Amino acid sequence: MTSVRAKKQSNCRICHSGRLRRYLDLGSTPLANSYLREEDLTTEEFREELALQVCLDCGLSQLTTVVNPELMFKQYLYVSSTTETFRNHCAELANTSVMVAGCRSGDLVLDIASNDGCLLSKFRELGQEVVGVDPAENLAAEANKAGIPTLCGFWSRRLSEDVVGRYGQPRIITATNVFAHVDDVHEFVRAVDRCLATRGIFVIECPYVVDFIEKNEFDTAYHEHLSYLGVHPLRVLMEKHGFQIFRVDYFEMIHGGTIRVYVGREGEYQPDPSVERHLLQEEEFGIKDFRRYEAFGERVLQNKQQLLDLIRRLRAERRTVWAYGASAKGNTLMNFFGITKDAIPVVLDDNPKKWGWRTPGAHMRITGVQELVRANVDYLLLLAWNFESEIRRRCKAVGYTGRFVLPVPEVQILDCANTWRNERGIP
Ligand SMILES: [Zn+2]
Repeated sequence: MTSVRAKKQSNCRICHSGRLRRYLDLGSTPLANSYLREEDLTTEEFREELALQVCLDCGLSQLTTVVNPELMFKQYLYVSSTTETFRNHCAELANTSVMVAGCRSGDLVLDIASNDGCLLSKFRELGQEVVGVDPAENLAAEANKAGIPTLCGFWSRRLSEDVVGRYGQPRIITATNVFAHVDDVHEFVRAVDRCLATRGIFVIECPYVVDFIEKNEFDTAYHEHLSYLGVHPLRVLMEKHGFQIFRVDYFEMIHGGTIRVYVGREGEYQPDPSVERHLLQEEEFGIKDFRRYEAFGERVLQNKQQLLDLIRRLRAERRTVWAYGASAKGNTLMNFFGITKDAIPVVLDDNPKKWGWRTPGAHMRITGVQELVRANVDYLLLLAWNFESEIRRRCKAVGYTGRFVLPVPEVQILDCANTWRNERGIP
């Protein structure tokens, strides 16, 4: 274990400005992906400040504190291919990227933070050579076993040279849901620069800051998620390294709103109108305007009060409340709202790897949806609200007739009836 557990972020990660202003404090919380075994429950959990600040110069939202990554990414229970929605998204990403880069069969694709190899398997189906890099030893081993060559480690210039030496220069480098987790983004881009082919493309996907603010997605904040990105700050970063953003795609339904940014070496690709359009939209949104963020902070506190009132009332009525989705965002919400296993003892999750574990902080017991069959549950708190319709289908399939509680952007009670009627507000 390394000695430095966390450090303060006092200058902007991208433009190095000191004009950072804090706008949301989620308290001192455990790491959102540090699930516990039954026998660990008596040991005190590692906790660190979880708070957000925005850079008034480039518009990058970022955490106030950076926890040592060694504490967060070595064993990772999240497996990307768990959900159907995500698998389909990976297939589309592979298709579009191969088309945009004009790849020929056999060209190399590198995926940074390749997880269990889900995305790379889609590229391989298209005839590309693939290689992955991931710091989680368990996932890298699993991917290798499944035939996706995967190097274990954090993305760095050394790994980049290793890739070129062993596999050649990638035509496509993808980094999905990892860029926002990286502290030294300049080093990350330098390592990409070192190995990417001249006409290669670098494709980044990350949750979109505009949705984060507009849709009150405070629960997508957790210690691993260091940056909350938009096209403005990404452009500042890329230009510092001789890269250019030439296309931006937007996916409303992925992780609560996701942008995909295509980056090439300066002058290699003609910029698409989507780049200018997003820059303009972000200006209209007020990506560098502190009042935007301040108002968001106030809405989040109201949201918290609403849900706490509802849970208190359901408990007074002796209703049984469970949750669905032992995800990082669920853990942020539970810990920030101060809800524990006393109010919600069980959380259902589709990832069998998580069954039998306890959630950090709240200590809910994690199990599969099949347990819902025999339990008399009245309400299910939808912690994984981004997979709402998929979860709804799974619950219906096992005969669940209770209701759902959607916690964000404001509390809603949803009926389990066929019509899926939304009941606004609290009953
Ligand atoms: Zn900045």
